[in-house]
Amino acid sequence: MKAEIMGIGTELLMGELNDTNAGWIATRLPPLGITLQWVTLVGDDLGQLTHAFQQGLKRSDIIFTTGGLGPTQDDLTREAVAATLGETPTVQEDMVEELRQYFRNRGQDMPSHNTKQAWLIPSAKFIPNRNGTAPGWWAERDGKHIIIMPGPPVEMQAIFREQVEPGLRELVTEEVTITRNVKTMGLGEAAVDEIMSEYFGHENPYLGIYSKADGIHLRVIARAADEATARRMIVPVEQAVHDRLGEYVWGYDDETPEQAVAQVLQSRGKTLAAMEYCTGGFLTNAITDVNEAQRHFRGSIVAFGAESLAAAGVPPALMDNHGAVSQETANAMASAALVQLDADYGIGVTGAPGPGELDGRPMGLCYLAIARATNAGPQVIKELELRVPPRRITIKRRISNQALIELRKLVEAGE
Ligand code: ATP
Ligand code: MG
Repeated sequence: MKAEIMGIGTELLMGELNDTNAGWIATRLPPLGITLQWVTLVGDDLGQLTHAFQQGLKRSDIIFTTGGLGPTQDDLTREAVAATLGETPTVQEDMVEELRQYFRNRGQDMPSHNTKQAWLIPSAKFIPNRNGTAPGWWAERDGKHIIIMPGPPVEMQAIFREQVEPGLRELVTEEVTITRNVKTMGLGEAAVDEIMSEYFGHENPYLGIYSKADGIHLRVIARAADEATARRMIVPVEQAVHDRLGEYVWGYDDETPEQAVAQVLQSRGKTLAAMEYCTGGFLTNAITDVNEAQRHFRGSIVAFGAESLAAAGVPPALMDNHGAVSQETANAMASAALVQLDADYGIGVTGAPGPGELDGRPMGLCYLAIARATNAGPQVIKELELRVPPRRITIKRRISNQALIELRKLVEAGE
């Protein structure tokens, strides 16, 4: 089945809001056997929306939309679907009652404008929304499907996973495409390419190689009549990746470095503290993105410059001798973080914030250290000098990712 996605909202066309919904939906379609052919952005304009739906029905079997389901006058997705299909919406009393209940649970009265969210046309069914007021619609006419969903990603994703996907599985009988993403760090793209060379160049299963901020990803893609067969086709290629690159593998699919660290630390009951300089809090931000980070994260110190490093417990004499950007300083940072915040592991990252050099160290040259607690005090178990392209966001992202992935490998290996 051929599909298209419409992101609805004038904000999207003004560049004030980035369409992340389409990309998210796009990743869910291949395993369902649905081929995405178009992604469009359409403003909150009844004429343009209706035109887009008419065009979509000519070229696609399924149209997914997100946005424009709110109660306000510029939310026109329902009106446009009704106009396209030539149907008149009527208010559904049971949905009005559900909306009233939603507001009552929050100690509010339902504004009269919200009645619009209880509209339905004869060709459509509601798709309930447990995270918001706007239910979606699933409309069907002459074998074509229009699935409209709310804009907020949390609402849309829950609706899609829980209600749209099961419905689509019943509907689609085409070949499915399954993807397995294996993430490595420690080898360059060329080295990985050479090690896996005989697996490249095949159609099905297909192996792709991608360089990302968290290392080199190997993506295995298989197509088959059903999901189980496609998954079986992936197994030997994934096994080969493990046999040849096992020591560099740190995660799978959409796992992030911070999730990988959380998983390994929490399963071993260990804790982490950090002290960061060139990453300016980015590392801490990543660590705390994980649910229940308080179980493995004791906190961190974001220093900026030698004075704040000294205040945070890095000996000034050490920085006088070696510089604030040095392996010695990174080691002292990791140890100080671990001691002061009473953790099992400490991470220290230092580098010139740029632009230009600091004490002769160029921007992009960074030092990473990982220390662990022992009875005799902190012991440095990893030292690493890294060179990253001298752009702030690249430094923050790469160094944070590498610190987390190195820690994960060490903890996993029982260090
Ligand atoms: P609401 O009832 O919240 O108004 P809605 O279905 O009318 O929902 P919009 O008003 O279009 O949706 O968007 C609400 C919010 O949802 C936006 O401010 C934005 O945060 C998010 N959003 C909307 N469309 C997208 C999109 N394509 N990608 C990412 N986020 C989006
Ligand atoms: Mg809205």
